Amino acid sequence: MMEKSFLDSRRKDIEHNLDAINEKIEKAALKSGRKREDIRLMAVTKTVDPVFINFALDYGIDLIGENRVQELLRKKPDLHLDGVEKHLIGHLQTNKAGQIVGEVDMIESVDSLKIAKEIAKQSLKKGITTDVLLEINIGEEESKTGFSKTEFFENLHEISEIGAINIKGLMTVPPICDNEAELCKFFENIYGIFVDIKAKKLDNMTMSILSMGMSGDYEQAILCGSNLVRIGSSIFGPRIY
Ligand SMILES: *Cc1c(COP(=O)(O)O)cnc(C)c1O
Repeated sequence: MMEKSFLDSRRKDIEHNLDAINEKIEKAALKSGRKREDIRLMAVTKTVDPVFINFALDYGIDLIGENRVQELLRKKPDLHLDGVEKHLIGHLQTNKAGQIVGEVDMIESVDSLKIAKEIAKQSLKKGITTDVLLEINIGEEESKTGFSKTEFFENLHEISEIGAINIKGLMTVPPICDNEAELCKFFENIYGIFVDIKAKKLDNMTMSILSMGMSGDYEQAILCGSNLVRIGSSIFGPRIY
C-alpha cells in the first residue's frame, strides 16, 4: 500500500503538470491559427502504475497510449476507462496482432506492409475495422521503427487497398536533436507528406490525424501542424524501468 500523503502529493503533481501542458498546448494552437480543441493530448502511460494513470484520467484525460501489448492488457482492468480512448504506440509484432486488435481504439505504430495486413486479417476475424496510423521514420534512423519515406511511398497504394483497416493519418518520432530549426525541418517534412496524401483522397485514407510531439518537443510539433501530442514524462515524471 502507498501512503495517503504520498498519493495526494502525486495526484497534485500530475494535475499541476496537466494544467501547465494544457496551457502550453493552447498557446501553440493559437499561434498556429487553431484552437485548443483542435489538438488532442494523449497521456503516454508506459511503466506508469495504474494508480497514477487514474489520477490523470480522473482529471479529464480521455486518451492514453501504451507501447506494449502485454502491459496494456495487464493494466486495463485497473484503469478508469469510461469514455477513454486507448492507442497502441509501440512496435507491434505480427504474432501479437491477434491479442491487441479489438482491445484498442487505434494502432498508431503500423510500420510495415506486413503488420498492416496482419491487423487487417485479425480485424476481419473479429468482424471489425481497426483504425490505424502509419508510422514514418522521418529521420531515417536505423535504430527506429517506421517506414522510411521511400518505403512509405512504395507501399502506399497497396496499403490503401487493404480492407478492414482505416488509415486515419500519420505518426512519427523524430530524431533527438537540440537544434530547433533542424527539428522543425523533420516536422515540416512529415506535415508536407500528410497534406499531400490527404489531397490524393485514396481509399481508406482519411488523413485526419497527425500524431507528433512528445514531452520535449510538443509545442514545436503543434506549430508545425501536429494535432495529436503524446506526452509521458512531463505528466507523470521520469520513467522508472
Ligand atoms: C514514450 C513515448 C512517448 C512519450 O515520451 P515522453 O518523452 O515521456 O513524453 C511518445 N511516443 C512514443 C512512441 C513513446 O514511445
